[in-house]
Amino acid sequence: MSSHDKIIIAIDGYSSSGKSTMARRLAAKIGYRYIDSGAMYRAVTLHALRLGLVTPATVDSDAIVKSLPGLRIDFSIRPDGSQITLLNGEPVEKEIRSLQVSECVSLVAAIAAVRRALVDMQRALGREKGIVMDGRDIGTAVFPDAELKLFVNASADKRAERRYKELTAKGETISYEEVLANVRKRDHIDETRSESPLRKAPDAILFDNSEISLDRQDAILFDLYQTTISRHNEAAY
Ligand code: C5P
Repeated sequence: MSSHDKIIIAIDGYSSSGKSTMARRLAAKIGYRYIDSGAMYRAVTLHALRLGLVTPATVDSDAIVKSLPGLRIDFSIRPDGSQITLLNGEPVEKEIRSLQVSECVSLVAAIAAVRRALVDMQRALGREKGIVMDGRDIGTAVFPDAELKLFVNASADKRAERRYKELTAKGETISYEEVLANVRKRDHIDETRSESPLRKAPDAILFDNSEISLDRQDAILFDLYQTTISRHNEAAY
């Protein structure tokens, strides 16, 4: 396949909707690079937490913006294809998934200058196409011309249940109610912020995965990819 056959796949949706799993599995199947843009917002948040610039109730936006030039985010890939986020070279994949980061990340992600810096990085990562990127504004703001866009949702209960299982499996002590409250709070902040709020792009396909098995989900996504790529190739010749 030559590089002009490659497309950009944007997968947006609510917190813990399973969009990262969808995106990662699709990318592995079609040999594309997978980028979790949420990990980038989480890495900036971890950096801000370490500098004491954010709490769940307060955010020092100016100081966070000033700290951005001293911050580098990279990704390395494990042999099994999963992603490790690096903050100034340090692997922080586990730290960025903590509840402490989850509680502050939407505040940091609402800062316009943080979004601008990360959107620039995300566009640079997509320059060669052949990428599946998941997030909140990928189809609306980062890649408005992405060839395939999905908007994923599942009920808040279902999403909180998935996140609760993930966190307790990692040994975090937390109640289901706390997780549900965090999911709802992040939905609210993400939907109502003025800068690139979470919205379905008009041309995105709505995908509710509350009741779909992983295998069925993989099959639907692969079909969508194949249909999109043949349409794209027809248009190119
Ligand atoms: O996808 P994940 O839940 O890890 O993202 C963490 C947070 O980062 C979201 O709740 C949202 O506030 C923010 N985010 C964003 N734009 C993106 C990806 C994530 O605002 N493209």
